[in-house]
Amino acid sequence: MSDIDIPEDHPRYESLLTRHRIEDGVDKGITSRQGLIAQGRGETFDYLLGERTIPSAAAAERAAAAYLLLAEHPVLSVNGNVAALVPGELVELAEATGADLEVNLFNRTEARMQAIVDHLREHGADEVKGLTADGRIPGLSHERAKVDSDGIGDADVVLVPLEDGDRAEALAAMGKVELVVDLNPMSRSAQSATVPIVDNIVRAVPNITRHARELATSSREELQRIVDEFDRDEALAAAEQAIREGGED
Ligand code: ATP
Ligand code: MG
Repeated sequence: MSDIDIPEDHPRYESLLTRHRIEDGVDKGITSRQGLIAQGRGETFDYLLGERTIPSAAAAERAAAAYLLLAEHPVLSVNGNVAALVPGELVELAEATGADLEVNLFNRTEARMQAIVDHLREHGADEVKGLTADGRIPGLSHERAKVDSDGIGDADVVLVPLEDGDRAEALAAMGKVELVVDLNPMSRSAQSATVPIVDNIVRAVPNITRHARELATSSREELQRIVDEFDRDEALAAAEQAIREGGED
């Protein structure tokens, strides 16, 4: 997928590839320059976690899949970093769960919105929401409050990867089930989530899709049991401990 030359046996191959995708996203007008900083922050936590999916994150990913399958109207929120890193993987997750895709940007510009919509379409999406912007999230300033009223506005379950803390809190206050992917368990986004997934987005999205496919034929009772058994505080504590002590495996 990449036009750069990183030797595959380089010990940090995955990390360098990810970094290049973000750079590429900036060049294509998909990712903001702020997104580069967010990526750097994420890499730090991923390094401390051992660049792997820790067991508590795997449990969160399974719970997230169950929530998406139980949802009346699930929506996957897409920003510039996510679009650069996992566009095709998001389209697959949307298909596996019947979710809508909606572009949602912290620094909203029409050009970047359109570039991301086009990028997702190139990766197989048919409908991408976000351009109508006829709904508002209460409690946020004008530009950052914009959503589609028949998208995130109407959703009962929202996957918000790498969401800004403020908006994550505002969405939670609207009573939506929030599935947050964020490598920092102490960020306000992770703290306000119904399901905090402390894992790299490049691992988290394919993992959630795999769980969703495995659970596709499960009964609602079985899905509900998975949701009920998931303990968000325990997951956040386990992730923080893994970062501080290198434990949990
Ligand atoms: P807040 O407390 O408001 O949430 P923040 O430090 O999280 O503040 P953001 O701009 O939301 O500020 O930072 C982006 C977040 O996304 C960081 O927590 C970072 O760890 C996380 N992140 C960055 N890249 C990835 C990635 N590839 N996968 C998962 N999480 C990531
Ligand atoms: Mg955050």
